[in-house]
Amino acid sequence: MLNKKSVDDLQVKGKRVLVRCDFNVPLKDGVITDENRIVAALPTINKLINEGAKVILCSHLGKPKEPTPSASLAPVAERLSEKLGKKVVFAADDTVVGENARAAIEKMQDGDVVLLENTRFRKEETKNEEAFSKDLASICDVYVNDAFGSSHRAHCSTVGVTNFVSESAVGYLMDKEISYLGNAVNNPVRPFVAILGGAKVSDKINVINNLLEKVDTLIIGGGMAYTFMKAQGHEIGNSLLEADKIDYAKEMMDKAKEKGVNLLIPVDNVITKEFSNDAEFKTVKGDIPEGWQGLDIGEETREIFKNALKDAKTVVWNGPMGVFEFSNFAKGTIAVAEALADIDATTIIGGGDSAAAVNQLGFADKMSHISTGGGASLEFLEGKDLPGVVAADDK
Ligand code: AMP
Repeated sequence: MLNKKSVDDLQVKGKRVLVRCDFNVPLKDGVITDENRIVAALPTINKLINEGAKVILCSHLGKPKEPTPSASLAPVAERLSEKLGKKVVFAADDTVVGENARAAIEKMQDGDVVLLENTRFRKEETKNEEAFSKDLASICDVYVNDAFGSSHRAHCSTVGVTNFVSESAVGYLMDKEISYLGNAVNNPVRPFVAILGGAKVSDKINVINNLLEKVDTLIIGGGMAYTFMKAQGHEIGNSLLEADKIDYAKEMMDKAKEKGVNLLIPVDNVITKEFSNDAEFKTVKGDIPEGWQGLDIGEETREIFKNALKDAKTVVWNGPMGVFEFSNFAKGTIAVAEALADIDATTIIGGGDSAAAVNQLGFADKMSHISTGGGASLEFLEGKDLPGVVAADDK
């Protein structure tokens, strides 16, 4: 459905294929704590290996301003090698495409895999400056972008490089992500329900606005819900509030009415006086008293949300319903995850914290699709074009 050239459209035997992956994985003391993004990259890599390409992989990792050992992709090379059951040569090289990398590529046989160093070691990367794009293009015959999680950024390794290669395409992961999200948003089996949560309204302003054009029901929970409660005229104590977004929240409530969208805002909340899992907590309906803050949706709200999900056929979820990292305030997020696990629907989890919540709470295998890209899936849901996708050759 993506009108872009895919890896299936390429003749890669004996060619050097540069694949931009999203290997931006969480690391703790040099150890990868979540390998989902590596696993998600395997189908494209395996396909290219099997077709006899020389597979050169690149990615960013974190946001280093300069070459930094703790941001090296070396641990990814090791894990990837285990996953592929095949040696992955790591081209340690602070300039990413320097002497070491070129020497490693020179030695490649068909079917070999080389991983370049963190693309952010080059300061041009995030500015999409030509020098690094040209360097990347100079080491390959074909370029494939499979980094959905980085596709909302126009950087050298996602966009710039396509200006200097003769052929570019998207990988299987990119195709899968866009197919799930695209079908959900543009061609949903109804009822279509979107669930938005997380800390900030301002992060999701455009998503709310765009989804109100598409969904039958929009559920709002998490910290961002309190700005909506305030807009409804409730007291919200010390709960998260974006005061400059109250008018916007009112506008969105009006828009929902106008469009006939069922907009659900919490009616009760689990509140506490301190942002801590050890603090005293209780559930209140409606107004939140002074000195207290809402950290989760209450039981009645959980039931309302679950009920709204019961008959859904397409669900998109982005952002937790409360501070799920604290067990006393995770019930709302768990309830939503359980509801999604139970229904017979296409269930799509936007990346970032909601993906972490679903994984951490053990519901991952019950979802139709868990996106590897938080920011990218949000921008897609906003209705924006993703530069990393646009840049690839059309079919
Ligand atoms: P986001 O990155 O915007 O999706 O926000 C995710 C973060 O929002 C998580 O770390 C949650 O702990 C936090 N969060 C969710 N609900 C609340 C709340 N009621 N108060 C404060 N933080 C919250």
